[in-house]
Amino acid sequence: MKYISLNHNSAPTSFRDAVINGLAPDKGLYFPEEEICLSSKLLKSINNIDDVELCYEVIKEYIGNEIPKNRLIDIISNTISFEIPVKEIENSIYSLELFHGPTLAFKDVGAKFMALCLDYFKENNSSKKMTVLVATSGDTGGAVANGFSGTKDIDVCILYPKGKISEVQEKQITTNSSFVQAIEVEGDFDLCQSMVKNAFNDNDINQKISLTSANSINVARWLPQMFYYFLASKKIENTNPNIYSVPSGNFGNICAGILAQSMGLPIKHFVASTNVNDTIPRYIREGIYEPLKTKNTISNAMDVSEPSNFIRIQKIFNNDLQKIRENISGYSFDDKSTVDCIEKLNQHNNYITDPHSAIGYLGLKKYIQENNLNNFNGLFVSTAHPIKFKDTVENSIKSQLEYPDSIKSIMDREKSAKTMKSYSELKEYLMHKD
Ligand SMILES: *Cc1c(COP(=O)(O)O)cnc(C)c1O
Repeated sequence: MKYISLNHNSAPTSFRDAVINGLAPDKGLYFPEEEICLSSKLLKSINNIDDVELCYEVIKEYIGNEIPKNRLIDIISNTISFEIPVKEIENSIYSLELFHGPTLAFKDVGAKFMALCLDYFKENNSSKKMTVLVATSGDTGGAVANGFSGTKDIDVCILYPKGKISEVQEKQITTNSSFVQAIEVEGDFDLCQSMVKNAFNDNDINQKISLTSANSINVARWLPQMFYYFLASKKIENTNPNIYSVPSGNFGNICAGILAQSMGLPIKHFVASTNVNDTIPRYIREGIYEPLKTKNTISNAMDVSEPSNFIRIQKIFNNDLQKIRENISGYSFDDKSTVDCIEKLNQHNNYITDPHSAIGYLGLKKYIQENNLNNFNGLFVSTAHPIKFKDTVENSIKSQLEYPDSIKSIMDREKSAKTMKSYSELKEYLMHKD
């Protein structure tokens, strides 16, 4: 499989180069050159296939022969090594819980898969040492740090805005092995991001070390997210049509679901659920793409006004707004509705949810109501464990959350981070770290 640039000014490239470079030379996102359809035989038998084998069948054409089968199977089993339950929380409404991975966020799947692919490519190429550089507003940092924790010869640098991420998130970023350097930036997420961008454009740095980005546009983070749509379908045994509501920020997760649908996985409809950063719901409704200034919300992993992956969704639907409308509905919710929903789900359904997943639930309910649906399975994607947004959730349900066992041990670990306030400090560090 070759990958084309969606800016159409770079030559098609291999999966390997697409993963290592992240973006095409013309700054476009990579997209698979060929459409893949699964055989009807496979689609009919997904309930009977082993999870790892199913995921292998789903992704193999996208990787081609660039990773040998045995190794790819290994990578997949490491990527989906935790449970992905589908819980019915009320009649025909299910929570697809993607937060049982090592850092309790769905980003674990993409980050792990990408780390293991890079690890393989690194072993088979003795060039300069790789450094993964990433800016995070919260969940990405922990997932990337953890994903790369077992890889050799790959350094990881994670920039996060001081005081603007939750305690659990900070521990996950700052308590790793010596290969993972946490950098606490005295400024906001935009400053972190611009420091990272400067580094990628800096010739001095690029001559000295090989920099790789691990952000959500990387094809190795995007594609494996298809796995959980297949695994969820496997768990639902009735034949009612499946509707997925996906809490969306950069639209990578929902876009992977749509790619799964395009390969033949039966999904009736997608709901793109956002917070008040509602560029896409407005676009779907009004046909005008008009990003506004990004607003801060309690579902901060979705505080995005120009979702980078939306261009991939447009590509899948050939830029046909009508087709997009037939397949995707969009709804946005403010913080007040989010808090009310967390409270109500706790009271009436005895289900505790984080703010992002709550928005997924709200979008699903709204779509079902507006369309008077009867026989269906409604799945909202639960993207983070409530403990990752402890303060917000505790304030909403007015009681305390317990730390899950997997988090307890890191909460006692000592934080280790460098503090920086400008690009020159980051450059100094990257130039002399070895
Ligand atoms: C990253 C993230 C999202 C948004 O996912 P996208 O793929 O960027 O749309 C939603 N919820 C949580 C908890 C996240 O960390």
